[in-house]
Amino acid sequence: MEIYDAIIVGSGPAGMGAAFSILKRNKDAKILMLDKRPYSTGGMRNDCKMNFTFPIGFPLEYWEEGDANRYLDEVIEFLKPNILSKNNIDTYKARAERLGCSLLEIKQTHLGTDGGLELIKELLKKLEEAGVTLALSEEMLTIDNKAKVIKTTKRELGYKSILIAPGRQGFHFLQDVMHQLEIPYMDNIIDVGIRVETRIEHYPIVKDYYDPKFYFKEKVRTFCTNSGNAHVVKEKYATERGDIWYSVNGHAFKADETKNNGLVNFALLKTVRFTEPLASGQDFAEHLGLLASLMGGGKPLMQRVGDFRLGRRSKSATFNGDLYDFKPSLDACPSDISLAMPSKVLRYIWSAMKNLDTIVPGVLHPSTIMYYPEIKLYANKPEYKDSNFQVAEGVFFAGDGAGTSRGITGAWASGIRASEGMLKYF
Ligand SMILES: Cc1cc2nc3c(=O)[nH]c(=O)nc-3n(C[C@H](O)[C@H](O)[C@H](O)COP(=O)(O)OP(=O)(O)OC[C@H]3O[C@@H](n4cnc5c(N)ncnc54)[C@H](O)[C@@H]3O)c2cc1C
Repeated sequence: MEIYDAIIVGSGPAGMGAAFSILKRNKDAKILMLDKRPYSTGGMRNDCKMNFTFPIGFPLEYWEEGDANRYLDEVIEFLKPNILSKNNIDTYKARAERLGCSLLEIKQTHLGTDGGLELIKELLKKLEEAGVTLALSEEMLTIDNKAKVIKTTKRELGYKSILIAPGRQGFHFLQDVMHQLEIPYMDNIIDVGIRVETRIEHYPIVKDYYDPKFYFKEKVRTFCTNSGNAHVVKEKYATERGDIWYSVNGHAFKADETKNNGLVNFALLKTVRFTEPLASGQDFAEHLGLLASLMGGGKPLMQRVGDFRLGRRSKSATFNGDLYDFKPSLDACPSDISLAMPSKVLRYIWSAMKNLDTIVPGVLHPSTIMYYPEIKLYANKPEYKDSNFQVAEGVFFAGDGAGTSRGITGAWASGIRASEGMLKYF
């Protein structure tokens, strides 16, 4: 059986951050990177929009501004991003502030889904050239930390240190690992909301600021804006019983005037935190997702703003008339989202949309589509033993699945931080 100084499970940004950081600090380290897919499946592969300003992507329970900035500098130095320019920000900011909302000005870059894949291939090539063993299309199944061995779909592998960074889709897998290692955890927070899709002329701010981050009262925020050649997509989730539900999401391809579909999409999310009794965000999300799936005949739901305002459901016909002037980019079920959404979430989100329409007039055009549900499950919060995200002797977690980040750059920074703990084991 091969024994590695460091096994890295997950080739997303958390895994990449750790691998390159170990190589930088110990170029002779024997490293193996494992991913169950041929290429990582998270944000680097989907849209690859990177934010380089604290606190975007950094959960405040784990990150102080000074520390995050120190790691962010290392990410910037490594990735050398081409930061996008912004215009007219003061005007939008002033309008937002008048309503008690805020617009955060952040450094960002956008590679697009196709550009992200190019980056992944480039990074994997660099790792291989530096002597890292890549084990792609191989899934980690179980861990025995006394024997320092993991089992994969193909073999057994030994480790001195291990980073497990399986992303949001690895939610159940990470919980299984925590049960095997007897690590206490909480998952009491989720974000629930909708994805809005409209024509760029109804949300022209995206010409000035690619992914504008608005914060509204009652913890509602805009998130993950995509424009140009932009599409709403669905992500498949399965409950432990095998029932299927979908969360919507969005992405865009890299900027190319000849391929633009003229659409923009973004999420409006509300954070929900359970305290007494302490409930599982995952369980709550599954109930919401299954209800939407039931109403949508197995698809996510969509409703035009015009119908929503009149209090009536959208029907197939709503999507063919002359007023409703663009074709949805996702095959979702025309419906009534207010029948499926918790009323408090809907109320806060609709209030945020009205504020947004005052800041960027036009977004509430009757043709605008609201897709539901968009749910973010990133709150598997294990009990960490130290500031390097160590959960058991030599075992580290990082990234969105473990709650140490909420975006590509935060995940990359988490990977670097975990690697500093891993280095002590070899
Ligand atoms: C559709 C979509 C679009 C997104 N767009 C953006 C964006 O533009 N910008 C942004 O900042 N964030 C975006 N995100 C969020 C983004 O995914 C994360 O912030 C980031 O990728 C988290 O990095 P990670 O390394 O924790 O996990 P991931 O990037 O999800 O990587 C985890 C990897 O682990 C692998 N894995 C899981 N389980 C196992 C196992 N048992 N064995 C082996 N391998 C395993 C997975 O295949 C995956 O490749 C997006 C997410 C989605 C789903």
